[in-house]
Amino acid sequence: MSQHTNLLLPLFETDQDKEVERKTEKLTLNGGGSVWRFKGNRAAKEAASVSIKSVLSRLFENCSKDVKKTILPLGHGDPSVYPCFKTSVDAEEAVSESLRSGAANSYAPGVGILPARRAVANYLNRDLPHELKSDDIFITVGCCQGIETIIHVLSCPKSNILLPSLIYPLYYSHAIYSQVEIRKYDLLPDQDWEIDLQGIEAIADDNTIAMVIANPHNPCGNVYTYQHLKKVAEMAKKLGIMVISDEVYKHTIYGENPFVPMGIFASIVPVVTLGSVSKGWLVPGWRIGWMAMHDPNNVFKTTGVVESIKDLLNISPDPSTILQVALPNILEKTKKDFFDKKNLTLRQNVDMMFDALKEVPCLVCPKKPESCAYLVTKLDLSLLEDITDDVDFCMKLAREENLVLLPGEALGKKNWVRISIGVERSMLEDAFARLKSFVARHVKSQTT
Ligand SMILES: *Cc1c(COP(=O)(O)O)cnc(C)c1O
Repeated sequence: MSQHTNLLLPLFETDQDKEVERKTEKLTLNGGGSVWRFKGNRAAKEAASVSIKSVLSRLFENCSKDVKKTILPLGHGDPSVYPCFKTSVDAEEAVSESLRSGAANSYAPGVGILPARRAVANYLNRDLPHELKSDDIFITVGCCQGIETIIHVLSCPKSNILLPSLIYPLYYSHAIYSQVEIRKYDLLPDQDWEIDLQGIEAIADDNTIAMVIANPHNPCGNVYTYQHLKKVAEMAKKLGIMVISDEVYKHTIYGENPFVPMGIFASIVPVVTLGSVSKGWLVPGWRIGWMAMHDPNNVFKTTGVVESIKDLLNISPDPSTILQVALPNILEKTKKDFFDKKNLTLRQNVDMMFDALKEVPCLVCPKKPESCAYLVTKLDLSLLEDITDDVDFCMKLAREENLVLLPGEALGKKNWVRISIGVERSMLEDAFARLKSFVARHVKSQTT
């Protein structure tokens, strides 16, 4: 047993059997002659139904004690549990120093502590033509709180938001929860997964508030070029909407295209970028990230967006002060070697799995990823006998092989499947063998 445990994995045992079964109350009576006046919120249920965690827990439930194989969790992206994806010692040092200093025991301001905001500004300014100031930065509980905050700030009656058809589903969840209509735009697999800009123009209207892009793109694994991002900026300006750019994977690039921050185009259109240390430093459990307002023309101030963000952050939980105090050292002291080594391992995993998948004709990966930690594949159902869709594929795969992959439906697009490659090499080999025997059992017999 490794010293790390995968906290999302079921252990096939719970504490329940130790507890005495609770009596379920009759719905109508509370024993005092009255009815209970409260109940759970349906909006949360709808919003969470599209979350990765809920899809994965359904898949894990489908795994089987009787299949004599360990569960291979290749559905979510958290390499931190594997020894080959250990975080940098400099980052660990920064956190332990912060903890021991005794200077991180207090509450922090809602927007984050000044040294952390300043450090993020300096860190982002390395790649930007204009200067971000500490005031342009808000410290958040990971990138997730950035997503939540910006969508909640922008939501208003009848508003809609443009989201890519394949994306980290928390965007969907928060749009659903805050009743912002989701309009999906296409990504073009045959054109390096570029954004279908004509399609965007067709679906936007006067109630569109923003478009979200992910760069580098989880799950497609592409990195947008300067030229393409410039066109995105020009399109957004024409439509009068802001661009929200999720750049949480900016340190996870192992292909040819260099990372271009969307903030470069802020003189054309106001841009909010979201980031965190979760993926780059392999510490998603640390829960610290940021929002950066790239806005040399002060649009966010005049439209009241900045004020709303501050208001919302003042009533939300803050990231731990320990991490806020550590953040400047994490950003400044981590050496390039750390990122290079991590990215080399990912690249080797991608190379191996991309080639291996050529032997599985029903899973087609249109383009070899050059970033992030996934392979996204199109599921060719016409080759399979008794599989109805991506969810059915993943459910049966979990049940028969204890192999968990993420159905595309969870990322917004049916009949695609995402495979995480941020795991130990031996797990990928094992996963591939299981995938092959699963497909062999379900492939249509050839009639000649
Ligand atoms: C993982 C991920 C997030 C969430 O990041 P945290 O910093 O862990 O909150 C956001 N967006 C994308 C695209 C991700 O892959």
